[in-house]
Amino acid sequence: MSRFLLILLLLPLSVSWAAPVTDQRLQQAAHDPANWLSHGKDYREQRFSPLDQINVDNVQTLGLAWYVETDDVTGLQATPLVADGVMYVPAAWNVVYAINAVTGEVLWKYDPQVPRDRSSRFCCGAVSRGVALWEDKVFAATLDGRLLALEAATGKLVWSVQTTPLDENYSITGAPRVVNGKVIIGNGGSEYGVRGYVTAYDAVTGEQAWRFYTVPGNPANGFENAQMAMAASTWKGEWWKFGGGGTVWDSMAYDPQLNLLYIGVGNGAPHNQNIRSPGGGDNLFLASIIALNPDTGEYVWHYQQVPGESWDYTAAQQMSLMDIQWQGEQRKVMVQATKAGFFYIIDRVTGELLSAEKFVYVTWASHYDLQTGRPVENPGKRYLGEPTTVFPTGMGGHNWRSMAHSPITGLYYIPALDMGSEFIEIKPEDFKLLKRHWNLGYNVEGAAMSEPMQQAMMKKLPQAFLLAWDPIAQREVWRAPHPFAHGGGVLATGGNLVFQGRADGQFMAYRADTGEVVWAFDGKNGIMAAPISYEVNGEQYIAVAVGRGGALSQVMGIEHDGVNPRGRFMAFKLGGTARLPAVQQEAFPEPPPRMAASPEDIEAGRVLYYNFCLRCHGVNAISDGSVPDLRHLPQAWYDNFDKVVLEGTMEQAGMPRFDDVLDERSAHVLKAYIIERANEDKEDRDRPRWWRAIITRVYDYLAELVRWSMHRE
Ligand code: CA
Repeated sequence: MSRFLLILLLLPLSVSWAAPVTDQRLQQAAHDPANWLSHGKDYREQRFSPLDQINVDNVQTLGLAWYVETDDVTGLQATPLVADGVMYVPAAWNVVYAINAVTGEVLWKYDPQVPRDRSSRFCCGAVSRGVALWEDKVFAATLDGRLLALEAATGKLVWSVQTTPLDENYSITGAPRVVNGKVIIGNGGSEYGVRGYVTAYDAVTGEQAWRFYTVPGNPANGFENAQMAMAASTWKGEWWKFGGGGTVWDSMAYDPQLNLLYIGVGNGAPHNQNIRSPGGGDNLFLASIIALNPDTGEYVWHYQQVPGESWDYTAAQQMSLMDIQWQGEQRKVMVQATKAGFFYIIDRVTGELLSAEKFVYVTWASHYDLQTGRPVENPGKRYLGEPTTVFPTGMGGHNWRSMAHSPITGLYYIPALDMGSEFIEIKPEDFKLLKRHWNLGYNVEGAAMSEPMQQAMMKKLPQAFLLAWDPIAQREVWRAPHPFAHGGGVLATGGNLVFQGRADGQFMAYRADTGEVVWAFDGKNGIMAAPISYEVNGEQYIAVAVGRGGALSQVMGIEHDGVNPRGRFMAFKLGGTARLPAVQQEAFPEPPPRMAASPEDIEAGRVLYYNFCLRCHGVNAISDGSVPDLRHLPQAWYDNFDKVVLEGTMEQAGMPRFDDVLDERSAHVLKAYIIERANEDKEDRDRPRWWRAIITRVYDYLAELVRWSMHRE
């Protein structure tokens, strides 16, 4: 045998044999169990790995194979990709990692150097949900709106394009997708008043191929296409001054047979429709799914789920494609469980709504009229005049945390949340558009609620759970409740297993058919991201990104004693023996003495806190550990409070300046509130452990009692 032939025969055995990720490989990705080549595993976004080496019979021996600690404490939301033994995954601030998927060795890191002062222009943490692979490249998008092509082998930058105007408040947290040699990328920023769109770039050159706007611009400038003219007839007033919203910030799916690209469109800007489009209208294409031709960007169909969106509801949650028997007929459908709390079944050829059923507690609408495809809203939920409560909250009955489908059980596994919000109207004449802050159009100050509102909120206390849902019968099969207000993304496998991380750091495996807990691992930090599975050298792995952060985690806040706040990637295999380092118990600094401030001052500070600080630093000034906890700052921060808040001395660390909305007087009361909270926390910590345990028990018992009595009525 010639030496040449021998080399050829040995080649496939070598681990580092990296074949290009061709269009054909992407289209066949569902039949490639060893790899995880695109965001949702394959274009159907079902997130099912057929691998079954790890299964219900041996999962007890699943152990940590390796972990990689990142450089930042901001939590990770990304789904890693794996191609031929190499993992590609973005960490905080869009730093892209290539990791040997067997050993955990970091092969290269690419830091796009996102300016930290951009943090005032994105809503929900310095996060990214993923990258894309095609041929010999990795595509990553950045918080400041760039799309990058990197060499997969080396991490060297091949090309970079700015996909958003830098002087506006766009950001990108979603994963790009590659379809037919084009990189498709959306953006976010509705809360700050932007106009949504999606753009396609040539994957080889980075040249723009097409752009599709999701809401109409100012009619005086002319419309980009016939769909924008049509959409404009569903808007009123001068919506373009507020941007309109409708960002494509997360979900996409693709059907190669139909050659249709599906994009999920977000909420209105501002949320309150009465400000955005006074007098109503459907406001196309907010909260809609749009089918486009991926080669040209031409519109094919749309289906709007929430006409005249007014609650931060979006159609931007994961779209998952499946072929089903529906009323005796074979149908190509997509399913989606959205923020609005309905599980939709939509014909993906035509956009026709086949079914929509509630999968969480919902009060904004009673049901969908299948003749018209429109929701039947409950009265008073548009909060015009009378304040009201609405379920689900804008955090969503289901949000970006990925769900998964098992073709074996036929079920979807949804990270679900029962939670409501209060809505207290801001009148159009009182609304002021802020440049670098959330523009919601209602009050979020958490002021004392009226008795009926309190009762409505107590009826369903926040509860996160993993929900197993039958998508054909449209009913719940089992649920696993979580201890805190969020669970992470989900993976289903051929081993009759469902994997999901929780906010308390537990990484769990459930039996897919029954929901029985069969394995748990303490990840020592909250987990939001979705796990994946892959195989190298005949060994199956489960991998997941770890870390708190993102809208829900940051807003809700979670005590973080005993937590290693750094973002981390973990991979598991049968018999894995790696160990996470012990967590160094943090000693909290002494709080400064309370300020000479009246109860009214502290209350005024609290209202300001709720408006401008809460979305990162958390309810009651309890952070989730992914941003500094304002109760536990070193003395120097309190000493320089005004400089940090009003002059932006910590902008390069990611703390925005607020002198456009706060003055010295308001900074003073804000500081008084925060120092009050720091002292309350200290007093709480000084109480004996047993006392705190009793208080927690009594509180849980009372809450349960309230829940029970409310349900009885
Ligand atoms: Ca939103």
